[in-house]
Amino acid sequence: MKELADAIRIQGKGIGSDIVKVDMFLNHRIDTGLLFRMGENIAKHFAAKDPQIVLTVESSGIALAIAAAHALNDIPVVFAKKARASNQSPNMLEAPVYSFTRKTENVIRVDRAYLPSGARVLIIDDFLANGQAVRGLMSLIYQAGCKTIGVGIAVEKGFQPGGAQLRTENVDLYSLAIVTGIEGSVITLNEGRNE
Ligand code: 5GP
Repeated sequence: MKELADAIRIQGKGIGSDIVKVDMFLNHRIDTGLLFRMGENIAKHFAAKDPQIVLTVESSGIALAIAAAHALNDIPVVFAKKARASNQSPNMLEAPVYSFTRKTENVIRVDRAYLPSGARVLIIDDFLANGQAVRGLMSLIYQAGCKTIGVGIAVEKGFQPGGAQLRTENVDLYSLAIVTGIEGSVITLNEGRNE
């Protein structure tokens, strides 16, 4: 998606050789026009598969998940939680996820009631690196007896293995921009998919 690729080039920051910071328009301050156009773009790709639920993980996937779900005729968004709370349902499904940015293992949880068995679920996240977050979400969907119909990502880091592995497994992975490298302050990328 050219508009996203331009935003990453102009407003994104490379940190070290492997972290892309997009706080200026996606992860801290949000450019709402761009966000909703990203959601529409993802929705267009997956509409024919008729997803019933969008699943993401808190917190940075939620905004894009809402934009995509709104464009898919206002289907619900469910976001997996990272913290355990005293008022949580006893019927939480759980999956371990190693966090690439925080270098710690989290457990993500979702209430079984919000993933009814048989539902067609679209996964959305802001970044794809090693694929741990997506795999954790796929595990929750599997445990719930639902079906993963695809994965929509804002920024895939093509130099990390998550995307290639998912494609090998024939997962319908749709990334709006693919970063191919970070050198100093220069982020190189291709535009991913733009249907
Ligand atoms: P993975 O689980 O695919 O290794 O990493 C994806 C998760 O880590 C995403 O949910 C995202 O929040 C975070 N992440 C991975 N790489 C980056 C990055 O370069 N920049 C930012 N902002 N988040 C990242």
